[in-house]
Amino acid sequence: MRLLVVEDDRDLNRQLVKAFEQVGYAVDEAFDGEEGEFLGETEPYDAVVLDIGLPGKDGVAVLEAWRKAGRKMPVLVLTARDRWSEKVQAFDAGADDYVTKPFHLEEVLARLRALVRRASGHASSDLVCGPVRIDTRTSRVSVNDVTIKLTSLEYRLISYLMHHAGRVVSRTELVEHLYDQDFDRDSNTIEVFVGRLRKKLGVDAIRTIRGLGYVLEPPGNVVTPSASAG
Ligand code: CA
Repeated sequence: MRLLVVEDDRDLNRQLVKAFEQVGYAVDEAFDGEEGEFLGETEPYDAVVLDIGLPGKDGVAVLEAWRKAGRKMPVLVLTARDRWSEKVQAFDAGADDYVTKPFHLEEVLARLRALVRRASGHASSDLVCGPVRIDTRTSRVSVNDVTIKLTSLEYRLISYLMHHAGRVVSRTELVEHLYDQDFDRDSNTIEVFVGRLRKKLGVDAIRTIRGLGYVLEPPGNVVTPSASAG
């Protein structure tokens, strides 16, 4: 899962990015409205944290531009003052949730988890696919109730596949959602990570769809008539 933080307060921006990276997100940051608008319009984020009081173009205008351009990613806005009109403006511009400053990081993290899971059609913070389970609150991954130790990149991979279980995910899509923009991306390394993840999971849950990508499904799941023939 990949996030964008648009916040001009450098300390706060850094704190948010650090907190998000610690729980397993890939994170890009922007420090003004123009930069944020550009990134949100060109990169596929799973959620965005957008400050309303930004130099240049304010958060509401940035959000309006994204929605006008058809960008549908969930957006959590940060409002500096407890002003109801600012919140109304933000929601009407296309915001999905808000937090008023000052806030507790835990609350922002919980709201982001909720936005990310709802955007991919999940209601529970526990994602389950056959014997594989992710508790998104603790970033704990288990197979048949045994905890599996994963690197942060492996966690991002399983988390993305779990959020989109049952759908074929291409290698390009994985690259776009697992790495931040500064990362030296190479879609060939995805294959290596999938191989490692399969080994650690120890169950046959990630299927390769030749030429298309990968799909996470319960082991033994038969999805096409041709796969069950004979
Ligand atoms: Ca600000």
